[in-house]
Amino acid sequence: MKNINKIADYGIKIVKNIAIAGIIYTGILLVAQGISQETSQRINNQSQLEQILNIERKRAGIKNEMIINISMSNNKEDISEAEKIGEKYYQITLSPRSSNLSTLRHELYHITDGHCDETYNNFKYFFWNEPQATIYQITGLKP
Ligand SMILES: [Zn+2]
Repeated sequence: MKNINKIADYGIKIVKNIAIAGIIYTGILLVAQGISQETSQRINNQSQLEQILNIERKRAGIKNEMIINISMSNNKEDISEAEKIGEKYYQITLSPRSSNLSTLRHELYHITDGHCDETYNNFKYFFWNEPQATIYQITGLKP
């Protein structure tokens, strides 16, 4: 009985440590994204969005045949996203607050690395796709 209790204690410790590591990881990711966005060039209107998209899509290595629509959302939710809306057809939506070069690069990375083409997996998204897109938005280097 003693041993079982010890194993249970050990299990609880492991779970606690994983939870703490997860919180620290999330914090680092959010802070890195936040700092990058705050220090980034702002994009103020639709024509500027399209202009910068044209430059940045080449930089990110997105193929010419891929169509990317970009727009600023007019809702108040602070959500920016890239999604696949058809065959070789993608939509990037930037929230008014995160309408900047850093976020644009982040969303472009999701497209160029095929994240929008795969079936959504929470775990892979959060621990693989998201840090990669964050590295690209901060450094401009493809991980
Ligand atoms: Zn992302």
